Amino acid sequence: MSTLRFKVVEEAYGHKPVAVDIPDSRPSDYFGMYVFNRVQMYKYLDKATYDALVYAIDNKEQLTRSLADGVAAGMKQWAMDHGARHYSHWFHPLTDGTAEKHDGFIEHDGKGGMVEEFTGKLLVQQEPDASSFPNGGIRNTFEARGYSAWDISSPAFIIDHTLCIPTIFISYTGESLDYKTPLLRALNCVDKAGTAVARYFDEDVKHVISYLGWEQEYFLVDKSLYSARPDLVMTGRTLMGHESAKNQQLEDHYFGSIPSRVEAFMLDLEIESHKLGIPAKTRHNEVAPNQFEMAPIFEETNLANDHNLLLMSLISEVAHRHNFEVLLHEKPFAGVNGSGKHNNWSLGTDTGAMLFSPGKTPKDNLRFITFLANVMAAVQQHNALLKASISSATNEHRLGANEAPPAIISMFLGAQITEVINRLLNADLDDNIAFNGKEGLKLKNVSQIPELLLDNTDRNRTSPFAFTGNRFEFRAIGSSANCASAMIALNAAVADQLAKFKVAVDARIAAGEIKEKAILAEAKDLLAANQAIHFDGNGYSDEWKEEAARRGLDCEACVPRIFDAYLAPQSVEMFKNTGVFTEVELKARNEVKWEMYTKKLQIEARVLGDLAINHIIPVATRYQSLLLDNVMKIKAIFESNDDGLAEQEKATIKAIAGHIYTIKDEVAKMVVARKAANKVECEREKAILYHDTVKPLMDVIRYHIDKLELMVDNEMWPLPKYRELLFIR
Ligand code: ADP
Ligand code: MG
Repeated sequence: MSTLRFKVVEEAYGHKPVAVDIPDSRPSDYFGMYVFNRVQMYKYLDKATYDALVYAIDNKEQLTRSLADGVAAGMKQWAMDHGARHYSHWFHPLTDGTAEKHDGFIEHDGKGGMVEEFTGKLLVQQEPDASSFPNGGIRNTFEARGYSAWDISSPAFIIDHTLCIPTIFISYTGESLDYKTPLLRALNCVDKAGTAVARYFDEDVKHVISYLGWEQEYFLVDKSLYSARPDLVMTGRTLMGHESAKNQQLEDHYFGSIPSRVEAFMLDLEIESHKLGIPAKTRHNEVAPNQFEMAPIFEETNLANDHNLLLMSLISEVAHRHNFEVLLHEKPFAGVNGSGKHNNWSLGTDTGAMLFSPGKTPKDNLRFITFLANVMAAVQQHNALLKASISSATNEHRLGANEAPPAIISMFLGAQITEVINRLLNADLDDNIAFNGKEGLKLKNVSQIPELLLDNTDRNRTSPFAFTGNRFEFRAIGSSANCASAMIALNAAVADQLAKFKVAVDARIAAGEIKEKAILAEAKDLLAANQAIHFDGNGYSDEWKEEAARRGLDCEACVPRIFDAYLAPQSVEMFKNTGVFTEVELKARNEVKWEMYTKKLQIEARVLGDLAINHIIPVATRYQSLLLDNVMKIKAIFESNDDGLAEQEKATIKAIAGHIYTIKDEVAKMVVARKAANKVECEREKAILYHDTVKPLMDVIRYHIDKLELMVDNEMWPLPKYRELLFIR
């Protein structure tokens, strides 16, 4: 056992530096070299095909079969010129990550030889077996077949000699089985509803675009140390491990200098990202030791999300080259911060206006107030749903802990915006709106919104949903999550709210009210009705928990119960209004969520049980025997008149025995709890049982193992410790 320990640590520090293959040219030269973007389309498609494809993309139209054939031919040529041999529909099933099934271009030519073939049919649609992916029972009721269909708004790309075609994944009967389909529906909706409202202010607006800028946090661990931790390998987190004497208390890691080994990895990752068209821009150390972040320039939400998913697979691949393993788990280590994925979100128009930017003119400011009020209303009404959208077994470790996010969704606005809202709420509307000859409309209170400088906005790290100057930062998303889940709920909720707003304003206008006054009146009503969600204080404090409950915000902290919010009547109605999910889809998806929750805990409980019984207890027992041996020898040599000499040893032996006994006992209880839960048919009940009965036992077992770690001879301890895992040099 001890030899393994030393070998592992030796290997960890014995890696030779890995050379990064830095291209001779500049990033702007190789950016997107593996993406079939418009430049490549222009080069590889004939003019008519190019025009028709671009038109279809811009106008969200379907491809005709003959057009698809033309596109496929050009795409195949481009892909082969860039070394591709296979093609794959790339989709986002309801598991973590992405799925792909590769097929070669190779075909018989019918004349005894072979050719490379790729037709419009293969480009546009495939039929992966839906039953192999989580579907929440949809395949039982209907058919096993599923369809993947090209999402032309996201360009194809090449990875590892395979042409990847971003696709949606739906069942035979049209229910979505993935994240992309509902995301596209939600984005369409917010486009429609947002455009209708944005046109009050500018008739030229034809589209409203949802933008997403994610910040991906992750941990790096040395690959050989990782391999010696079965819990990391199988669950992505350490199920045991005592805090090291030093962790993040000195706050010396955040924005500290990046270790050179890590910097080489980051450089490599950025180069690979850029080749794939991911506009990676920012990198830095995070708060915890070995924790880092990478963020790209924000993009249209669907593309940004594809890029995040792509990055999540790319990052592991690049890490391996550098003898690292990446941990995307939300809480790989107890006692230090976990990882999140802030989603910076905004809406903009095709005319270039950013709808959450306070402007210079009264009109711009009225627009700002309008969109702000609608977002507030949507977030307040759907705060439980938004929390459900970021909840998972893995993110549950962060929820409610004193690190973002608290288990309550609230909105931070900052002092300046708060003041504007308060002024508006206290003002008489007629007092606010004045018409002033040539200058036209005047909005007294609204016009005083200071133009916010981005860096000027107050920072409140404890808020899960914070206004940061021209966007909202949804901070509660987990590092391993598909951002689509949160983006679907948020964009759909805002779309639904904007549609209602439009109806209300139009009714006022129809009744003879001036447009601006009608808008301001409705916005004011929304602001007045939705102040409960607004909280600028400390989201981690206990007072806030009480206050939030008084305000009627959702305070549930148990993830399987949080999922209920998807099936609450107002969520079902909102998703129906927007056409994002049918009730059948919502039910099916919740089944998948509960099932995934249970499976994750089931695996963790098994791994923990195995490690406890097969790794920890044998080692602790062996050490105990050594001590017992020692006591016997002390007694033999010093005879009975020196009995006191052995007392300390005896106390240690008793303590070890106590921990061993408790661990065995609790593991047995955990097995019983698991078996009882496994018998339950209902997925929801099962997940709740895992949460209520299995999870607490895991914590107890861990507590005792961590105590043993402090007592047992370091050399005998079978697992790399936190101090070894956490400090890359
Ligand atoms: P911080 O860590 O201070 O929040 P970062 O620079 O790490 O900031 O990340 C900010 C993220 O927000 C980047 O991905 C950036 O592209 C994105 N972002 C900036 N402006 C917008 C916007 N208007 N809409 C969406 N995302 C934005
Ligand atoms: Mg941020």
